[in-house]
This record gives sequence, structure tokens and C-alpha cells, in this order.
Amino acid sequence: MSERFFLSSPPHAGRAVLEGDEARHLVRVLRGKVGDLVRVFDGSGVEWPARVMAIGRDEVTLELDEPLSVAVAAAPPLTLAVALPKGDRQKWLVEKLTELGVARLVPLVTLRGVAEATPGALERLRRGVLEACKQSGRNTLMEIGEPRTIAEILRERPATVRMLVADPGAAPLDAADAAATAAIALVGPEGGFAAEELAALDAAGVVRVGLGPHILRVETAAIALAARLA
Ligand code: SAM
Repeated sequence: MSERFFLSSPPHAGRAVLEGDEARHLVRVLRGKVGDLVRVFDGSGVEWPARVMAIGRDEVTLELDEPLSVAVAAAPPLTLAVALPKGDRQKWLVEKLTELGVARLVPLVTLRGVAEATPGALERLRRGVLEACKQSGRNTLMEIGEPRTIAEILRERPATVRMLVADPGAAPLDAADAAATAAIALVGPEGGFAAEELAALDAAGVVRVGLGPHILRVETAAIALAARLA
């Protein structure tokens, strides 16, 4: 079985335990049996081949082999602060940003935002990250940050991190400049940023970046920006 499973608790003495949905998926969906070979990761960058040792009611005990890979964190790290779109488009956004190696997704609270980042929504985003990691072979989890306003992001940003904002009509990012340093990139809501939000970003020296001649949906703009910067 080449399936990958996520360990919510770190391995200990060459053993690990799959719990909850991960254990149920192995046993009930994939009909896993004692002796089956699987691969597991814990989100820190390490992946292990493992053998099923015991199957319990809600957990599966595994014996781990030597680690297969220790992923080097994608550098420089990229944070995308995105005014979340609605419904399934959030799922798509998280899947693609995880695949592209984005380090952190922050739900951006804007004046014209349409989707609230409730605790339930954040939990769904985190589950989406896990699924995308399992499917894509990524061994580090993309962090889902707490929702932030533009003012909070400006206040909290480290001095060495540059900030960009996707803005229709702005000049495209210089290719040589694209992946130079750690960055926080902002994408606005379907209705666009309000004039006062853009004014605050301009006053803070945030660089406006264009993504071509067409108006992109929020998730398309976020993915296009990630593909240029990650
Ligand atoms: N009418 C809105 C406006 O003019 O900003 C359109 C908003 S668009 C659907 C949602 C967000 O995606 C925008 O706030 C912007 O951050 C980003 N975006 C969409 N198309 C873009 C483009 N061609 N270049 C740069 N950013 C874009």
C-alpha cells in the first residue's frame, strides 16, 4: 500500500500510532491489515516507511523504518494573506497553495470580505492542508494562521519581510525580484480592496503587483501570485 498517513502524535522508540480519521481511513476504507506497508509523516518534514503491527478499534499501531526524507523548508518562506472566497473555492485555494509550497495562509479580514473565517472554517482549511500534503508528497504542513486585518498584518510583520499586494492594473512583478526574499502577499476580496485599505498599504510602502490584463477570481489570483513567488 503506497498510501501516506499523517501522525498527529510524534513517533516514539520506532513506533507510532495512527488515530481518528487516519486510522479509520486505513482500516475501513482501504481495508488495511496487519503486515501492510504504508508511509507516514508528522508535518515536520520527515517521512517514514512503516508496517502495520496492530489494529485497534480507533487506532493503528505502526513500526517505523528509517526516515526516507527530511524535507528542507521551501526558502524563502511565503505567506499569503487572502480574503477568503466562499464555499468549495476555499478548498481549492488551500489544496493548490499547499501543493505550491506556500508556508502560511492567513485569512485576510477586509471591508468587502464575503466569507468569515470561523473556527469551523479554519478547521476545514487545516483538514484540506492535510489532504493536500498526503496526496502531493509534501511533508511539512502549510500553516493556517488566525484571521488578520490589514492593520494587524502591517503592525506584526517582521522588518526583513517585504510585502506585496495583488492589484489589477499594477505593473507585473519583475522576474528577477520574484523569489528574492521572504514575503507576505495580499489578495483582496471579490469586490476588491476599499480605497482606504489600498491607501494604508501604499503608506506602509507595500508594493502593488499586477497579474495580467484580466480580473482574476480571488483563488486564481492567490495561486498565480504563489506560483510567481514560491
Ligand atoms: N473589481 C475588483 C478590483 O478591481 O480589485 C476585482 C477584485 S478580484 C475579483 C479579487 C482580488 O484578486 C483583487 O482584490 C486582487 O487582489 C486580485 N486580483 C484579481 N485580478 C488581478 C490582476 N489581474 N492583477 C492583480 N491582482 C488581481
